[in-house]
Amino acid sequence: MTLGTLPTPCRPTALGPLLPVVGAATRVPLATGGRARYVNLDNAASAPALEAVADRVARLLPHYASVHRGAGYLSRVSTALFEAARERVGAFVGARPDDVVVFTRSTTDALDLLSRAVPDGGRVLVADVEHHANLLPWQRSARTTVVRGGPDARATADALAAELAGGGYALLAVTGASNVTGEVLPLHRLARAAHAAGARVAVDGAQLLPHRRVEIAAAGIDWIALSGHKLYAPFGAGALVGRRDWLDAAEPYLAGGGATLDVRADAVRWAVGADRHEAGSPNVVGAVALAEACATLSALPDGALEAHEAALREQLVEGLGALEGVVVVRPHPADAVGVVTFTLPGHDASAVAAYLSAEHGVGVRDGRFCAHRFADSLGIPTGGLRASTGVGTSSRDVERLLGALEQFLASGPRLEYGVVDGAWGPLDDPRPAPADFLELVLDDAPLDAPLDAPDDVLHAPAR
Ligand code: PMP
Repeated sequence: MTLGTLPTPCRPTALGPLLPVVGAATRVPLATGGRARYVNLDNAASAPALEAVADRVARLLPHYASVHRGAGYLSRVSTALFEAARERVGAFVGARPDDVVVFTRSTTDALDLLSRAVPDGGRVLVADVEHHANLLPWQRSARTTVVRGGPDARATADALAAELAGGGYALLAVTGASNVTGEVLPLHRLARAAHAAGARVAVDGAQLLPHRRVEIAAAGIDWIALSGHKLYAPFGAGALVGRRDWLDAAEPYLAGGGATLDVRADAVRWAVGADRHEAGSPNVVGAVALAEACATLSALPDGALEAHEAALREQLVEGLGALEGVVVVRPHPADAVGVVTFTLPGHDASAVAAYLSAEHGVGVRDGRFCAHRFADSLGIPTGGLRASTGVGTSSRDVERLLGALEQFLASGPRLEYGVVDGAWGPLDDPRPAPADFLELVLDDAPLDAPLDAPDDVLHAPAR
């Protein structure tokens, strides 16, 4: 029996969102007619903005002006807000007082920057469980060793620790949590192993930080990379936080204004610290948004984030596990965030994802999750489906996914699916073209369903 079919008195207490996010009540058109409240189970890819973040941005915009460049009062306001955001992001990850916080576009950008700062000849160690963002910047160097991950996060850490013990590495680059299985890596242990062997540690915090508090100084982590859009601040900023020596000695990430102290025909004196790698006009809106998200998450009571997510993960894993025809990939890791990958053997994952969207208004990720080597070793070389929760996720969201899958397995999709314009979708799709959606829904208040509506799906005629 699945959660979707439990009689009402037996249902576990409904779990609501932990924090308000923008768009929680947005409805999307269904290809079967009508509209449904959009269920976003793709938080691991990009999470919606926290309402607190959107409010902060709205308050900033009337006062926004150039950063670091203007004498005008609002320029100075923006500069002060930008620098305060830097402090806040550093505090969020528990940085050391002399660490540097470089604002980047994203985790990919941050790790790419760090990969260019490894001292000449320094050897780097990674495992093949990494997202491409924490694999490809290293893998392109002949001085990188990629070890094979084990059957669980602990075994992967064992493999990394054993390799480190052989000595000779300058850096271990490791993810905090897998974007495929949600497994959390034992970072304290890995940092100890790395330091004992004379190596430093860089953590890809893209998936871990939205779910767990991390104190890099206390954990012995030398750098951590993060993305605002995964931390409920989708305004184009990320960060690299950590030790300044390698960064100060590295070539500036971008050559341009703001990164220099003095420029002559025959010589350039480059700045040190964050400025060195932040040439060009900085993204003050993104930085302020990211800082607000950090502040809001930090203000949650101890354990609240973990408890919310653990309950949703359990509901997901148990619900999926109870569906005959669904296989969950690594369902019960020792420690995991709310990211669950599964397959429906015999069905193309992309076709199922298209069905969930077209007939149920449920958004999940399908494919190999930018972790092709890991997908291969997990036995899903052609990909799977991934449901990921966030602070805006409720148990009703999980029920919507489970109910939709149950229906699919019991009676199949209502529509016919195929590859249309390079992507899976209904062969006959009456929904407005996605590119036209904003024009159609702007100011269309009825598209926002009250969150406590008895039925998420409205079977009105499709627009
Ligand atoms: N690392 C991990 C573990 C991720 O999940 C992602 C995003 N899917 C990234 C890095 C890259 O993040 P971004 O796209 O924000 O650069």
